[in-house]
Amino acid sequence: MPEQEPLGTPVYRTSAFAFRTSDEYAAVLNDEKPGYSYSRIDNPTVDSFARAMAALEGPNLPTWPAAQAFASGMAAISTVFLAFARTGAHVVAPAALYGGTYSFLRNVAARFGVETGFVDLTDLDAVRAAMRPATRILYGETIANPTTAVANLPALASLAHETGALFVVDSTLAPPVVCRPLEYGADLVLHSATKYIGGHSDVTGGVVTGRVDLISRVRQVRVDTGGSLAPDEAFLLRRGLETLPVRVRRQCSTAMVFAATISRHPNVARVDYPGLDQHPGHALARRLFDAGPEGGRYGAIVTVTPHGGREAGMAFADRLRIARIAPSLGGTYTKVSHAASTTHRQLDARALEAAGIDPGAVRFSIGLEDAEDLISDAYLALDSLGRV
Ligand SMILES: *Cc1c(COP(=O)(O)O)cnc(C)c1O
Repeated sequence: MPEQEPLGTPVYRTSAFAFRTSDEYAAVLNDEKPGYSYSRIDNPTVDSFARAMAALEGPNLPTWPAAQAFASGMAAISTVFLAFARTGAHVVAPAALYGGTYSFLRNVAARFGVETGFVDLTDLDAVRAAMRPATRILYGETIANPTTAVANLPALASLAHETGALFVVDSTLAPPVVCRPLEYGADLVLHSATKYIGGHSDVTGGVVTGRVDLISRVRQVRVDTGGSLAPDEAFLLRRGLETLPVRVRRQCSTAMVFAATISRHPNVARVDYPGLDQHPGHALARRLFDAGPEGGRYGAIVTVTPHGGREAGMAFADRLRIARIAPSLGGTYTKVSHAASTTHRQLDARALEAAGIDPGAVRFSIGLEDAEDLISDAYLALDSLGRV
């Protein structure tokens, strides 16, 4: 170790650590002595990223939370379910759920006897009715994709705690600059760090933050299932955090202007963005999301539905020149996807309707381009739809 503290995070690119004695090795393995033995278990670069995440999620909590990092968002999500649900357990999750999580619950958790009830998370009576004595986890997403529905985090936390369930929140679309669900009663908050946290579309990762005792169970299952984050990826995610507030606030303020301007185009049937007055979750978003210095605080996912249904939605996405058709979100480049034909292609017409997804909906993940360029790109594409 150099005597001077490095400003950049050192990358401990090693799978194993050497010990002076077998006793010392055993003490570290038994958690009797702090230290590192094997990078699937713990790694200093990975810990550095996880600690920084905990600091961002928990600055206003009475006690400091802990965090665990993962090789992907899905590794984080599946580990949380494996840590807190057992055969016979029941889960309540939103019908408008990230596809990978839906697939995990339907195809993997179900095989181990964990049953999930899917409900409209914005209907608190429906959530209450879906809760059972066996419900171990109430699962929510701060901002749903692509509907941009906003979860009533404090009310859902109370509902979960009334039945003794954990309230677990996927806040990928609302990173800590926008919202910190632990402050509203969530027991665990998780992210696909692949999105805003990495922020540059060059790394895959996940992270879970919460109370120390809950996180130590999450860590144990991570060690046993092996979805641990690699040190090089941890370096990129830790570095991403240094620009997270600057990137996300700018993306939020661009999204706000973009959403407000695009809604006025005659070929647009609707725009879903929590920053718009007419959005059903607007008041909630005002209450739960941070007011950044430039007023951008409603996230940077804008869903635009042109008139004309599925074909118009696909044509709109295809005719954009600056915004790129690509999976994922939260990067520096603006990305779009036509939900019904891509991210939500497994959903039939009824399932789309249940999830509140219009067949023509096109999701924008607003990047760091100039707002005027993104608006004129979308305007040109929308203009051309009149002449389909
Ligand atoms: C991308 C995403 C995930 C899954 O994360 P990966 O890093 O792709 O495994 C989970 N939840 C949401 C909301 C996402 O957008």
